[in-house]
Amino acid sequence: MSEQGFETLLIHAGQQPDKETGAVVPPIHLATTYAQEQVGRHKGYEYSRSGNPTRGVLESALSALEGASAGFAFASGLAAEDAVLRFCRPGDRIVIPNDAYGGTYRLIARVHGEYGIEFAPVDLSDLDAVAAALETRTRLVWAETPTNPHLRIADIGSLSRLAHERGARLVVDNTFATPYLQRPLALGADVVVHSMTKYLGGHSDVVGGFVATNDEEAAERVGFLQNAAGAVPSPFDCYMVLRGMKTLAVRLDRQCASAASIASFLAEQPAVSEVLYPGLDSHPGHEIAKAQMSQFGAMVSFILAGGEAAALRVAAATKLFTLAESLGAVESLIEHPARMTHLSVAGSALEVDPGLIRLSVGLETLDDLLADLGAALAKA
Ligand code: PLP
Repeated sequence: MSEQGFETLLIHAGQQPDKETGAVVPPIHLATTYAQEQVGRHKGYEYSRSGNPTRGVLESALSALEGASAGFAFASGLAAEDAVLRFCRPGDRIVIPNDAYGGTYRLIARVHGEYGIEFAPVDLSDLDAVAAALETRTRLVWAETPTNPHLRIADIGSLSRLAHERGARLVVDNTFATPYLQRPLALGADVVVHSMTKYLGGHSDVVGGFVATNDEEAAERVGFLQNAAGAVPSPFDCYMVLRGMKTLAVRLDRQCASAASIASFLAEQPAVSEVLYPGLDSHPGHEIAKAQMSQFGAMVSFILAGGEAAALRVAAATKLFTLAESLGAVESLIEHPARMTHLSVAGSALEVDPGLIRLSVGLETLDDLLADLGAALAKA
């Protein structure tokens, strides 16, 4: 990572005023094709799927934030994941978290699984279990930390040592933490993936994905796939992510502080049997989170003592927390993973407790959020 501070990088990395006009924000380049002086002689762009200047600015900016030598933007988080999963050949194995995001599980089990890729769901906080699951044909260890929706913490450094001993790559989905809170490549990961749809975009108005790496072979393959399979984001979407990303640090500072207060509040509510938040001393991953994250994030999950019926009542009762999928934006959201974001893992080893509620804490006034939750919990 460069010498400059993270907030400086958010505003300036990869982004100089436009050379021709002085515009201080990157232009949205809509051209699909570029004039060539002679056959094969051009200014670096030929066709917008292969390379686009607005996308290029986003790729430079987010690579710098992750401390990566290469980065590739995709049309969604799952499109980015799909490119990385294509490192695997039939018969290869992937170790995945036993509470991976439902869409990641579906992509691995029901798309890549159809082509002979095998996978082993493991609790990544149990390093003995990870070591036992690693076989010679394990090509990838796939980690999320914090996980969605249980907010479990995996030790990135230890996982990378285990993966590398067996010749596998460690991929970290850094969507929940963002490079502001955690930089997996510096901790030993080989590849970082993102859903830019969440905190990076930050305003619930753009879908996108990203792959960042310092591994030349991986970069070469992902760059090839970005063009060959073509799941690229539009120039406008790239601009939207760049715009949102500039305020990532100030947004997350406030959101993390509010999430910590909300977690403490929930821990005192009789209707709540368990609060899952890595910032709480009681969280089993608290010490590792403290060591590898700068703050504990703005996602909070909790389990209702009254089970699924109580969870559904609470999810329907909040007024400021909007009942909706997704996360990471300025407005607070509430959802019921078992029936919403994680429905695709129903009946699998990754099934989510139906009494669990997930909150994405936004930027509203904290007292209003606490009052909203308090009123909803009274109906649990
Ligand atoms: N990874 C995580 C942790 C997610 O929460 C999500 C979406 O919710 C994704 C990946 C997929 O991203 P996208 O919805 O942008 O395809």
